[in-house]
Amino acid sequence: MIFIPHSRPFIDEDELVDVMKVLTSGWIAQGEKVRRLEETIAKFVGTKYAAAVSSGSAALYLALKSLDVGPGDKVIIPSYICSSPFWAVKLAGAEPRIVDISLSDFNIDPSEVKKKIRPKTKAIIVPHMFGCPAEIDELVNTGVPVIEDCAQALGAEYKDRPVGSFGTVSVFSFYATKIITTGEGGMILTNRERIIRRVKEMRDYDKKSLKTQRFNFKMTDFQAALGIAQMRKLQSFIGKRRQIASLYSQKLQSSILRLPEECDYKKSVYYRYIILTEKRRALQIKAKGKGISCERPVWKPLHRCLKVGGCPQSDLAYDRALSLPIYPRLSSREQNYIINKINLILKELSSAY
Ligand SMILES: *Cc1c(COP(=O)(O)O)cnc(C)c1O
Repeated sequence: MIFIPHSRPFIDEDELVDVMKVLTSGWIAQGEKVRRLEETIAKFVGTKYAAAVSSGSAALYLALKSLDVGPGDKVIIPSYICSSPFWAVKLAGAEPRIVDISLSDFNIDPSEVKKKIRPKTKAIIVPHMFGCPAEIDELVNTGVPVIEDCAQALGAEYKDRPVGSFGTVSVFSFYATKIITTGEGGMILTNRERIIRRVKEMRDYDKKSLKTQRFNFKMTDFQAALGIAQMRKLQSFIGKRRQIASLYSQKLQSSILRLPEECDYKKSVYYRYIILTEKRRALQIKAKGKGISCERPVWKPLHRCLKVGGCPQSDLAYDRALSLPIYPRLSSREQNYIINKINLILKELSSAY
């Protein structure tokens, strides 16, 4: 019986050797490797500064704090996302303002954002969903500080420039199934010296004054060694993901299916391959029966968790969006199996109309 999981990390001998070296070196906590990973990613994205932290969520929280977001402030976030940005805003003491997405790429809708901006709006969190860049120029032009959430989009490009280099500050996640992984981990990038100084102050408590709020948000050196080894594979990871996406887009065919749209000035890294169909539920169940694990890409839109309305596009995505397995370790055989089975199921479902 075939079983194809929805996601899988890619780790081989390179990672094992590099992590082992750190584990046996006598220095395993934050040190030289963490600095190397920070340099590597800042250089890749094209920002001056970087700070590694314990998770993407920690990175979001510290990014908010570094922008002086606190009680009484509002932060705009999209509805169609995991609850990490919601909790980061809450933890900073501010109030999330939830806006709708655009169904064409599942990203936050700039015109909805503009309607929600008030004097107390201190920041906008802009995730590049599923690896596809959001309309970042338009959002930066609102004048409200933008926190780019690149947790799903390391290596994606907007107008030939890497995402993470547009916002006032940007954050990344290296959770197990992200574009690259350190198990758990995150990073903050910026060109502003003041922001990075504040983040580095706040991520560590040892031998420092009690004047600013601090905690332990550090990454370990063996995680960073894993991350550095993963960064060497980044281009091949992205190439593989784009190759699979292109095959899916060529071969998946059905009258009841909407495939992802390619956009000429955005280069997606296809963290997820999302299809839209009114038969989402039936397709998901039948695919599971064939050993293919497809998932709703977002567990539940935030406005629905809060039992409020006003996000019709997120509702549509919640009903219709399904994420197919796509990752560098997906073999050709598995890709073809997925294509054949999904096409067959869709044929069945469309004739059942
Ligand atoms: C994964 C993710 C996060 C949170 O990152 P963690 O490392 O899991 O804390 C935040 N935003 C987005 C868009 C994500 O995909």
